[in-house]
Amino acid sequence: MDIHFLGTGSAYPGSERDNTSICFCKDGYRVLVDVSGNPCRKLKQLQVDLCELDAVIFTHFHIDHIYGLPSLLWGMWLEDRKKPLSIFCDYRNEKKLQEWLATMEADKWPIAFAIEIETFDGDREEELLNGGGMTFSCFKALHSVPTAGLEVRCAGRIVVYSGDTEINERIGRYDHIDMLIHEATSASKIAGNHSSLIEVAEKYDMDKIDEIVLVHLSDNEPYEEEAEKIGISKVIIGEDLMTRRI
Ligand SMILES: [Zn+2]
Ligand SMILES: [Zn+2]
Repeated sequence: MDIHFLGTGSAYPGSERDNTSICFCKDGYRVLVDVSGNPCRKLKQLQVDLCELDAVIFTHFHIDHIYGLPSLLWGMWLEDRKKPLSIFCDYRNEKKLQEWLATMEADKWPIAFAIEIETFDGDREEELLNGGGMTFSCFKALHSVPTAGLEVRCAGRIVVYSGDTEINERIGRYDHIDMLIHEATSASKIAGNHSSLIEVAEKYDMDKIDEIVLVHLSDNEPYEEEAEKIGISKVIIGEDLMTRRI
């Protein structure tokens, strides 16, 4: 499975980072999680075909995670996409998504592909979709609005993605995680609704996690220094357009 990081920045985009958005690809199946700045250009740079993207999952409806959607759909239309696109969102955001699509007048472009909205209850654990040998499930993240964390299982491996969230006991319950992609809005400062690098390293059992990729990162935070100080080599500070294979 290839995991492409389109953006790795926190809510306020950084000088080198767009807001956090990640694309999971395996065997010709492609799932984009959240849609931040300039998604069409980023997907092209990462060689993910706009006409072939299978699904979009919104973890939550804060602006930094959703604002690229009009641009993504517009680019797909210009590329003459025909394949239906599934968009997953928490049921509490369905009306907002429908209204937003109506505001875009997506049905009048004329759009040549179907947009299929699928809802889930982000407070519960449920399987969202299955494709390319990847299975996506959600669990409740700890944030200021309904927010889903995601578990992606593929070929016996487990990737867990959670951003935005406070440190979550649900993540700590795994016996083993191959890759934890976790937000670290700050390096060490404690702030509600979010996490710091230090909290991630200290509150999860590092022996149970093979690799940690930090995303939702802020400018002017001493991530490298803090990671070095605590001496954990398995922490990777995410960068835009980075790809990790697992
Ligand atoms: Zn965010
Ligand atoms: Zn948020």
